Amino acid sequence: MASNNTLMQYFEWYLPSDSTLWDKVTKDAKHLNSIGITSVWLPPAYKGASGKNDVGYGVYDLYDLGEFDQKGSIPTKYGTKDEYLNAIKTLKENNIQVLADIVLNHKLGADETEEVLAVQDDASNRNISLSEAKPIKAWTKYNFPGRQDKYSDFKWNWTHFHGVDWDDATSTTSIYKFYGKHWDNNVDKEKGNFDYLMGADIDLNNFDVVTELKTWGRWYLNFTNVDGFRLDAVKHIRSEFFPEWLNFLRQETGKELFAVGEYWSTNINTIVDYLNKTGKCMSLFDVPLHYNFYRASISNGEFNMSDIFEGSLVEAMPEKAVTFVDNHDTEPGQALESFIPDWFKPLAYSLILLRKDGLPTVFYGDYYGIPEKNVESKKNFLDLVLKLRKEYAYGEQYDYFNNKNLIGFTRLGDSEHLNSGVAVVMTNALGGSITMNVGKKLAGCTFYDCTKNIQTTVNVDTDGNGTFSCNDGSVSIWIKQGENIN
Ligand code: CA
Repeated sequence: MASNNTLMQYFEWYLPSDSTLWDKVTKDAKHLNSIGITSVWLPPAYKGASGKNDVGYGVYDLYDLGEFDQKGSIPTKYGTKDEYLNAIKTLKENNIQVLADIVLNHKLGADETEEVLAVQDDASNRNISLSEAKPIKAWTKYNFPGRQDKYSDFKWNWTHFHGVDWDDATSTTSIYKFYGKHWDNNVDKEKGNFDYLMGADIDLNNFDVVTELKTWGRWYLNFTNVDGFRLDAVKHIRSEFFPEWLNFLRQETGKELFAVGEYWSTNINTIVDYLNKTGKCMSLFDVPLHYNFYRASISNGEFNMSDIFEGSLVEAMPEKAVTFVDNHDTEPGQALESFIPDWFKPLAYSLILLRKDGLPTVFYGDYYGIPEKNVESKKNFLDLVLKLRKEYAYGEQYDYFNNKNLIGFTRLGDSEHLNSGVAVVMTNALGGSITMNVGKKLAGCTFYDCTKNIQTTVNVDTDGNGTFSCNDGSVSIWIKQGENIN
């Protein structure tokens, strides 16, 4: 029997640096399976420049999964290599696929500096150089003395990078492009050319680098047995790279290797263009949909809810959309802060978890809360909607997106899932009701609101029509009465 798939992002930015996450997810694996999670995205597992305090995106050594005494400790923020491997094994034993977070745009925390000739580029337009080439002291030598060549003897130096943003000789911050190098074409066009993001920018035109990253990718897959990838910062990487890298690894391993990329843009044309240019070798996170949720949640009822999917990836190319409500970057205090307020979270999660399109993501910070920012756990509501997704949200979908504030949709259910079918009504303003059709299978049944926001029941007529309501600024989810969902 086919069940709906659901991804969980198993970390948030402010987790304590206590190296316990791998053990936590190991203990949680059975529970995650029981609530309908079918894949888990784990944070970057390799040693970062800030050691145990590194969330994982400041990559120092791709081969150190918490195994070597480097950057102040053996474990990473999340635990040791053995704990990571055990977490993956346990998740897979519980029928949960594991996605590894892959950061190939940059490195940080080099072991030594080198003198390199570099030009300074305009930070707001990297196509414009502001200076002649002059020597700078760049942090670009990576020797990994703590690892002593285990797994790989590849050492990084300045020739493997495009540039840096720090001259250690003069203690100056700037966009330094190494003399003779150029930023790659086919990256995002923001800031003229958005190849450079942070740290030492990896030169993915360099043959030795590409070869090394293929070798590393094969090692990583064999060593960890993960099922796929979450690819970081893809808009800062030449678009030819990931098709080549993924195709190589798919051929080498014979595995499907599901991949979802982070292309942070609200422009649907840019996102669809990237998917087409990369031969649809990966899915992408639906960033425009996140911002629709955000705007709807802070508009004080002015946002037109019938446009909630306007310009989203799940509307434009549903088979490639990984939908989400929030993530580690949109949290309070983070670089892309745009955190959906509590009142709108149930609406947003209903819009990704109960509809037929997209692979929806549940965020750790929503499920378990973010104590650092006093964000409360939404576990009770999410457990309910996840159960509805697992057992009820099947079959054809009818949309009732005809009002500026009050919208609804139904799923008619299917023959595989007993009593499946739902009717969902929500508003970003005043409550109300919509007459909707739930199909022949559920015609004549009585429905109740399993969110318990509304206590009265709805009688569906013999044609399958019922009038379903919700309260102010909320969502109600109606299913056939007699189903003990809670
Ligand atoms: Ca880059």
